[in-house]
Amino acid sequence: MRVSLRVVVVHPDLLGTYGDGGNGVVLAQRARWRGIGAELLEATSDGPLPAGDMYCLGGGEDAAQAASAERLRADGTLARAVERGSPVLAVCAGYQILGRTFAAADGRPLAGVGLLDVSTAKGTGRRAVGEILAEPLFADLPVLTGFENHGGLTVRGPNVDPLARVESGVGNGDGTDGAVTGRVVGTYLHGPVLARNPALADLLLSWATGLSLEPLDDAEEAALRDERISAVRARHAGRGLLCLGRYARSVLGRS
Ligand code: GLN
Repeated sequence: MRVSLRVVVVHPDLLGTYGDGGNGVVLAQRARWRGIGAELLEATSDGPLPAGDMYCLGGGEDAAQAASAERLRADGTLARAVERGSPVLAVCAGYQILGRTFAAADGRPLAGVGLLDVSTAKGTGRRAVGEILAEPLFADLPVLTGFENHGGLTVRGPNVDPLARVESGVGNGDGTDGAVTGRVVGTYLHGPVLARNPALADLLLSWATGLSLEPLDDAEEAALRDERISAVRARHAGRGLLCLGRYARSVLGRS
């Protein structure tokens, strides 16, 4: 098998705060492990976005993500790639800027790249920080695990599906996480999300190559997933017991 794949990590100088460039590493490496030639390109914001077969955007700070969005809108390569059917994975700030509008540092709405029918505004409560578990809604994938760290909350329009239903954490802020349209996938999950969720990586790779990919030995990834998923669920169960204990004490205290 000699498909050659170019994976582009978009603006790592602006969208590199949360280690999401690792998603590009995972995609390229999982392709190579299957004998598919893969090239990983880190496309910094000081030049035009190169042509690629798949694109990854990561999380970043408010000002940096605004600069990235402005460049991507002016450049146009990403929108053309999406029209041609190239898969795009966008995480947190990357997800927000692919929407219609997102929030500037001072809360003003800024124009996004418009590849997903979502809009993001600053939340009024506490920043969403911590582990997140979400059940995928659009493909036959196992539960998604990651961590989130964002102030913005995202509202989906009518032309986009949610990526997942949140089991634990915040995500978009309405009980769902992320959004999917065609082969454009947005999510709040860092991790990097594809290191923690290799099945999602393989789905994106199968879209990009048109191949049905044979499974890999994911024993190490499975061990990591088990540890993270059970840590979150155990904490929840612990919190549930604590609440039950408080409730019981308040009821007993009253009698
Ligand atoms: N700056 C955005 C927010 O706080 C995105 C943060 C991120 O990419 N983790 O909502």
